[in-house]
Amino acid sequence: MKRTKLVIIGSGPAALTAAIYAARANLEPIIFEGFSSGPVGGQLMTTTEVENFPGFPEGITGPELMERMRKQALRFGTEILTEDVIAVELEKKPFMIKGRRTSIQADALIIATGATARRLDVPGSKEFWQKGVTACAVCDGAAPIFHNQDLYVIGGGDTAVEEAIFLTKYGKKVFLVHRREELRASEIMADRVKKHPKIEILWNHELVRIEGDTVVRKVVLKNVKTHQESTFLAGGVFFAIGHDPNTKFLGGQLKLKENQYIHVDLESSKTNIEGVFAAGDVHDHMYRQAITAAGFGCMAAMDAEKWLSEKGHL
Ligand SMILES: Cc1cc2nc3c(=O)[nH]c(=O)nc-3n(C[C@H](O)[C@H](O)[C@H](O)COP(=O)(O)OP(=O)(O)OC[C@H]3O[C@@H](n4cnc5c(N)ncnc54)[C@H](O)[C@@H]3O)c2cc1C
Repeated sequence: MKRTKLVIIGSGPAALTAAIYAARANLEPIIFEGFSSGPVGGQLMTTTEVENFPGFPEGITGPELMERMRKQALRFGTEILTEDVIAVELEKKPFMIKGRRTSIQADALIIATGATARRLDVPGSKEFWQKGVTACAVCDGAAPIFHNQDLYVIGGGDTAVEEAIFLTKYGKKVFLVHRREELRASEIMADRVKKHPKIEILWNHELVRIEGDTVVRKVVLKNVKTHQESTFLAGGVFFAIGHDPNTKFLGGQLKLKENQYIHVDLESSKTNIEGVFAAGDVHDHMYRQAITAAGFGCMAAMDAEKWLSEKGHL
């Protein structure tokens, strides 16, 4: 069976940045980039323009940015396997990483499997994805198609409230569509949104359908109490109903936080198992940006190198 110093699981900015640093440090990393566990290349493969990643003053498409990161990782000798990891064995060293076809033993492991933004499966949500429908206001809200439009944020937690407030910078009016009669967001955030002159909360409403032509033009909402459906003009729909970290394949072997994100030691990428590190959206539910994921990938590679060296593996 093949054995290596470092395996990295994932294919987004965290995994590829970790690979760039690790390969340049001669850790000979092997990446499992996934196959059907999510878009290969990570969440940015589902978006068009990325305007906030430094170094690209004109912007760059998500897929092109990821292709460039992948090439950079390959340039320094990273080996990439296009397979999902289906299980890991972390109770003894070397760790065992089991892909669908390949199993590898590794002295250290970086988990950078990201998270999946939840979407509502209503008619129109797939058709108008990235044509006015998205799951990240901070990422996409500044796009010209949303300027001076009526924007609909779906959700009622802290993220939904933050996204609604953020979107008031661009939209004509922001409607927060929530199924219940009170928000799940913290009191302070809920108060801010209730008092905001550009935000209207549509209590007891849910999204039924998204309509449009080349882009989103209307939403159909249902009042869950009266069951009455109404159609509204809309220029954008933002799902803010949470994310699911991609941690199921770990089989409960690593300590997770209450929200199922991986627990890491403060100011490092160390998990509760020595030699196992986590990077990016799989442990970070706060920032969830490509640049922070890349930063966490860098941290994980440096932590892994230090650990491998301390344990005499280098
Ligand atoms: C629609 C949208 C638009 C966005 N736009 C921006 C933007 O403009 N700017 C910005 O900074 N951020 C943006 N983001 C956020 C950004 O994409 C994420 O913060 C970032 O991609 C997280 O990187 P990551 O490396 O942690 O994981 P991810 O990008 O989530 O990548 C993880 C990948 O790991 C792989 N994987 C998962 N499980 C396994 C497994 N078991 N085995 C092998 N591989 C596995 C999959 O291929 C998965 O896609 C956007 C997000 C979305 C959803």
